[in-house]
Amino acid sequence: LSAASESVAADQQPKKFPKGVVLGKDGKPCRSCTSFASWAALAKEAPKKDAVAGSRAVSTTAVASGPPADCPPDVETLGRSTWTLLHSIAASYPETPSRTQQSDLLSFVGLFSKLYPCWVCAEDFQGYMARQKPQVSSRDEFSQWLCRAHNDVNRKLGKPEFDCSRWDERWRTGWKD
Ligand code: FAD
Repeated sequence: LSAASESVAADQQPKKFPKGVVLGKDGKPCRSCTSFASWAALAKEAPKKDAVAGSRAVSTTAVASGPPADCPPDVETLGRSTWTLLHSIAASYPETPSRTQQSDLLSFVGLFSKLYPCWVCAEDFQGYMARQKPQVSSRDEFSQWLCRAHNDVNRKLGKPEFDCSRWDERWRTGWKD
């Protein structure tokens, strides 16, 4: 995985797509794989008759603040919300889960990795899961596995790594004073 924006090399894309626009498997721009800034550039460049469905030219200020709350999510909004859900699931996972709970979590993570709408993100996450099997034997095991998985994405996107020893404070108990 690299930034979703780099997953389809710019030189492999038809000239009409601005840098950073990731194509879906249907060859059309994939909104949930592309940052809002690139999507806005696409909407700006597209001739009216080819306009990307649902897109309008947006101001530079609007681009900086991301997609409006009532518009389809870009790769970042979707990612942020998804990590919130995943870490919150980990936070409410039992310290000593039953066999059924462990099996449910494994199924969930497996299905999640197949259904995630950003396909380049999903494929890379499946690759991570193949290398690092999900640890579901306790809340602590799962939260640390998830933290490492999130850090794997952080590294590839050039974001700072999160200190996993502080996972509990960030996602379960709140920060210590
Ligand atoms: P996010 O990375 O969304 O993190 C949200 C918050 O979680 C942070 O503010 C921080 O408080 C906390 N946090 C950060 N790291 C950790 C950690 N390791 N453990 C616990 N908490 C942490 N985007 C792409 O462009 N390309 C991809 O290939 C890609 N793959 C993704 C795969 C998955 C499974 C998911 C869920 C998202 C993916 N994304 C991808 C989106 C990307 O990870 C970010 O969500 C997005 O760039 C927004 O980043 P952010 O800086 O707002 O913080």
